[in-house]
Amino acid sequence: MSIEQNYQDILSQLPQNVKLVAVSKTNPAEKIKKVYDLGQRAFGENKVQELLEKQPVLPNDIEWHLIGHLQTNKVKYIADFISMIESIDSEKLLKEVDKEAAKNNRKINVLLQVKIAKEETKFGLTVGEAKEIFNQYLEGNFPNIEIKGLMGMASFVDDETQIREEFYVLKNLFDDLSQLKPLETLSMGMSGDFPLAIECGSNSVRVGSAIFGERNY
Ligand SMILES: *Cc1c(COP(=O)(O)O)cnc(C)c1O
Repeated sequence: MSIEQNYQDILSQLPQNVKLVAVSKTNPAEKIKKVYDLGQRAFGENKVQELLEKQPVLPNDIEWHLIGHLQTNKVKYIADFISMIESIDSEKLLKEVDKEAAKNNRKINVLLQVKIAKEETKFGLTVGEAKEIFNQYLEGNFPNIEIKGLMGMASFVDDETQIREEFYVLKNLFDDLSQLKPLETLSMGMSGDFPLAIECGSNSVRVGSAIFGERNY
């Protein structure tokens, strides 16, 4: 199928309240522009270097989401234009984003990335760490950031029961924190598991290969 067909196919599977972030990592600007021309505005990249190459050559009204592990020393390069940093995985990183937001006279929207997969390798906060950071935020720390919600990735397994359990950990935390301050965004679900994620309460999915085709890595 063409990118256009893939894109319409994904859109047709999303309920109205679910946002699509098109994950464009490894894909060239021309391909991103094709999806942009179909009306898509939110795109996700996982590497700062790659984002910095694409951002200047693509339209200004693209809403860029950083979805990969972010090193503190690279925050400064994206602080003036990034729409959402979905991958806040440490307090140290959040402090740095807060600092760079202040320098740029803006607020930066972020999601706390929570480790829900049973697999070892993933970045992310524990549920306890996320609660701790959120409480600090409610007490007025990090005045230049806006915590909009949570992001998580389930294990890459075929076992639907396991994936569902992992998504529900995030959904429950989202509901708990929302009692303290209403949150907007629950980002979970990728090409392989977004229908399941939506069933479990996701309202923002990050879909790459199902739109752009398989990546060669
Ligand atoms: C690559 C990536 C995605 C998209 O993955 P696909 O399987 O291609 O849809 C989503 N979220 C994160 C954090 C990613 O790194």
